[in-house]
Amino acid sequence: MKENLDQQKMDFQQQQALEQQALQERMKSIKHKILILSGKGGVGKSTVAANLAVTLARDGKKVGLLDVDIHGPSIPKLMGIMGQVPQMGDQTITPVKAGERLFVMSMGSLLQHQDLAVIWRGPLKMGAIKQFLKDVEWGQLDFLIIDSPPGTGDEPLSVAQLIPDLDGAILVTSPQDLSVLDVRKTVTFCRQLSMPVLGVIENMSGLVCPHCGQGIDVFKRGGGERMAREMNLPFLGQIPIDPQVVEASDAGVSFLSEHPDSPTAEAFEKAVQTLLAGMDRAGKGKAGSLRIAVPTAEGKLAAHFGHCRQFAIVEVAGGRIGETRMVEPPPHEPGVLPEWLHQQGVGLIIAGGMGQRARGHFTDKGIEVITGAPPLSPEELVEQHLGGTLQTGENICDH
Ligand code: ADP
Repeated sequence: MKENLDQQKMDFQQQQALEQQALQERMKSIKHKILILSGKGGVGKSTVAANLAVTLARDGKKVGLLDVDIHGPSIPKLMGIMGQVPQMGDQTITPVKAGERLFVMSMGSLLQHQDLAVIWRGPLKMGAIKQFLKDVEWGQLDFLIIDSPPGTGDEPLSVAQLIPDLDGAILVTSPQDLSVLDVRKTVTFCRQLSMPVLGVIENMSGLVCPHCGQGIDVFKRGGGERMAREMNLPFLGQIPIDPQVVEASDAGVSFLSEHPDSPTAEAFEKAVQTLLAGMDRAGKGKAGSLRIAVPTAEGKLAAHFGHCRQFAIVEVAGGRIGETRMVEPPPHEPGVLPEWLHQQGVGLIIAGGMGQRARGHFTDKGIEVITGAPPLSPEELVEQHLGGTLQTGENICDH
C-alpha cells in the first residue's frame, strides 16, 4: 500500500516536472511577457489590455493576448472575435487570429455560454492557467500580454509563479482616490513577488465632450500620475473616457479597428512608446551595462541630495554589480552636477530626497532619477533596484 502511494507520488512529481519543462520551452519563444493588473474591477483593465495588444501589433510587433480571467472573460468581445473557437489538438491549442500579427486565447472562447458562471477552486485555476501557458501554440512572439481579473487573487499569483522571467506588470487605475488606493496594494503585491512594475496607466482620465470638444474631469484627473510619481513608478499615460470605446465593446468590435486615428488611439500609441522606451532602458541594465550614482555619507545613502559630498558610482553589467568607485563632486552650483554625472556616464541616480527642479535637470540630460530610497549602502540599493524590490518612500525634498 505504502509502495503504491510512493510510486504515485513519484509519478505525480515526474509529471509536474515534465509540465514545467514544457511550459518553460513554450515561454522561451516569447520575448516579453507582461501582466496587466488593477486594484479593482471596472477601471478598464481589460479594455486597456486589449488596446495595448492591438497598438503593439499595429507598431509591427507580433503579439499574443491571453485572458486568464476565468470568471468574467471579456477579451473576445473587446477584440471582435466572439464566437470564434480556438482549435484544440492533442495537448495543443491554436489561438484565434484577431488581426495581422495578433493572436488571442481566452477562457471566454472555450465557454459554451457567454453568461455561464464558472466555479473554480484555487488549485484548479492554477492548473488551467498552467495548461494555457503550456499548450497554446503562439509560435514566436515579441509580446505576450496577459489580462488577469481585478485584484491580487489566484490568477495573477499563478501567472507570476509560473512565469519566473515575466518582464513585469502594468497597473491600470482610474484617477479616483479609491481606485488609486487599491492600486497601491497591487504595487505591494508586485514587490512581494519581486515583479517589476513597468508602469501605471490612468484610464478614464477626463472626458472629451462629443458636442463642444471641452474636457470634463468626470473621475478627476491626474490621480494615477501623482501616485506613480510618489511611488517612483514609470507613468505611461492617460487614456480619456471615450464613448466610442463603450460603443465598440457593446457592439463586440475592436475599438482601434473602428477608430484608428482617434485621440484615444493616439493616447494608446503614446503609452506604448513610453512603455517600450522604459523597457529598453531596463533591458540595457539587464543585458548591457549601466552606471548608477548614489549620493552617500558615511557609506550609506545621504538623505539630502543637495548636501552630499561624495558619490558612489556602481557599475552594473549583465544584471550584476561590479566595481564601486567613490568620487567627490565639483562644488554644487546650478547645472554643474547634471553635466558632471553625465560626463561620468551615469544613467541612473538612486537618491533620498531631491527637489523637483534638480530632478528635471538630470532627466534633461537623459539621467533617470529614483527618489525616496532608504539609507542603505550603495550596493544594497543597486541590488534591490535590479531585483525590483527597492522600496521607496516619500521624497522629502519634493518642493
Ligand atoms: P475591468 O477589466 O477593469 O473590469 P473593463 O475593461 O471591462 O474593466 O471596462 C469596464 C467598462 O468600462 C466597459 O464597459 C468598458 O467599455 C468601459 N471603459 C473602459 N475604458 C474606457 C474608456 N477609456 N472610455 C470609455 N469607456 C471605457
